Amino acid sequence: MNPESMNENGGVMVTKLNDLLNWARLSSLWPLSFGIACCAIEMMGMYASTYDADRLGVLPRTSTRQADVIIIAGTVTFKMAERIKRLYEQMPEPRYVISMGSCANCGGPYWQHGYHVVKGVDQIIPVDVYVQGCPPRPEALIGAIMELQKKIEQERLITT
Ligand code: SF4
Repeated sequence: MNPESMNENGGVMVTKLNDLLNWARLSSLWPLSFGIACCAIEMMGMYASTYDADRLGVLPRTSTRQADVIIIAGTVTFKMAERIKRLYEQMPEPRYVISMGSCANCGGPYWQHGYHVVKGVDQIIPVDVYVQGCPPRPEALIGAIMELQKKIEQERLITT
C-alpha cells in the first residue's frame, strides 16, 4: 500500500480494495510443508532461526487447504509427479508455485540420463518463480519469495 495515503492526523488510511487484499496476501504467504530431495534441506534452513522466514509472514503449513504456495524443492520423479499435481490441485486459488533448484527447473544432474526424472516441474504444474542452483541457498529462496510478493502486488483480484 502507498504510505502516502496515511492521514497523519486522524490515523485514517485511504487505499484501493485490491491493494489492501494484495498487501494482506503477500504479507502472509503460507507454503505447503513439502520437500522431495536435497534442496528441501536448504528450504528448511530458510524456515529456521538464522534466516527467520517468519519475519516475511512465511509460515509452513501441513495442510494443502491452508497453503497458498508450494515450493518444489528437489528432484521430481515420474513416480512423484502425479502426487505433486494432486497436492497442487488441492490448494485453494489463488495459488503459487516456486520451482527450487536445477532438478525442479529442468531435471538438474539427471537431465540427460535420468530416465526416471521429469525434466522440469513446469511440465506438470504452472511455475511462478524459478530459483537457480544445486542447491540454491536459503537467501536465494528468500529472494524468490520476494519476487513472488512483487508479482502478487500487481494482481487484480477484483475487477469492475
Ligand atoms: S538441484 Fe541439486 S541439491 Fe537440489 S535436489 Fe537436485 S541434486 Fe539435490
